[in-house]
Amino acid sequence: MQEQAIPTNSEHKKACANCGAELKFKPGSHQLKCEYCGYEEFIEQTKSSFEELELEHYIKIVGENAYTETIDLLHCKNCGANQHVEENYKSLGCVYCGEPLIKEDIEKEGWILPGALIPFQLDTKKARSIFKNWVSGIWFAPNNLKRAALAPEGLHGLYVPYWTFDANLFASYVGQRGDHYYETRRVRTKNGVQTQQVQKTRWSSASGSVKGFVDDILINASQKKRRDIPSNIAFWNMKELVAFNSKYLSGFVTEKYTVSLKEGHHRSFQEAKEIAHNWIRKDIGGDVQRIHHADIKLTDETFKHVLLPVYISSYRFNGKEYHFYINGQTGALSGTRPYSFWKIFLLVLFIIAVICIISIFSK
Ligand SMILES: [Zn+2]
Ligand SMILES: [Zn+2]
Repeated sequence: MQEQAIPTNSEHKKACANCGAELKFKPGSHQLKCEYCGYEEFIEQTKSSFEELELEHYIKIVGENAYTETIDLLHCKNCGANQHVEENYKSLGCVYCGEPLIKEDIEKEGWILPGALIPFQLDTKKARSIFKNWVSGIWFAPNNLKRAALAPEGLHGLYVPYWTFDANLFASYVGQRGDHYYETRRVRTKNGVQTQQVQKTRWSSASGSVKGFVDDILINASQKKRRDIPSNIAFWNMKELVAFNSKYLSGFVTEKYTVSLKEGHHRSFQEAKEIAHNWIRKDIGGDVQRIHHADIKLTDETFKHVLLPVYISSYRFNGKEYHFYINGQTGALSGTRPYSFWKIFLLVLFIIAVICIISIFSK
């Protein structure tokens, strides 16, 4: 088997050529920008495409702790998330739960370098305005919610780790095909004798095989005690993946995977199984299908470690924690929100009053 070249992260310095200040990635572009003097620098696109890594080889070397690179990590004691910040910072709270992270607790850890990422398309300003619109559009929100929720230090751009898997899938199966047909039956009802159509199913045995390429099975590689990226915003256009370059991380927080490659692979097999079953059902045809046995084989498996952009805000309101998430590529939003007891209480009183008045006048 051919050994693969292990990708490494060569460039770490991101200082402004003009004034020496730190450069940060400018969302929606392929540039770094200096916040002080406005200097901009292109992020060179090293490869036109990125490598898919051959899985078997990696599972073997990762088992022996042969990581490809080390990074600085802060481990959240409250929720378990591992976070990496590319540039200098004064203070930092956990992106997921707000727990203060202490710079002195930085640990060096190995990781499989990401192969690709989707750069942030929305900047913080845009993310904040999406959230602001949402807050002002929700009913029965406490008046001072906006102030609590829009505190600038509460919103973070986070690159969330995912594993993606590709493979050739082959499955042979034994099952049954069911075709519906209808029988007319005469039934006695209150209104006399009527005819009714009754659905029946004719079963016949079916067997065969399906094959195809399974592309980009996406497995969230971040395992936390309490939170997950809501599934309704977890859709990214994977065509916009670019080869990994740490310059894209500047100005954002990056999370290190806490689901191992092995575990991620295990989960991806469950998804591949579902895909195989869908293909088999289509192959059997008819109206309904039964699968008695399916023998599923994956070959030429490859994987990528990818980073996908999400804005997260955790805000406290009246002692309770609330969260909202915005997809950093598409702007899709998902959030939990507090209700104002008094606003709802007054509305209920108002409705009762209206009902009383109507009933008095209608007598
Ligand atoms: Zn500068
Ligand atoms: Zn945390």
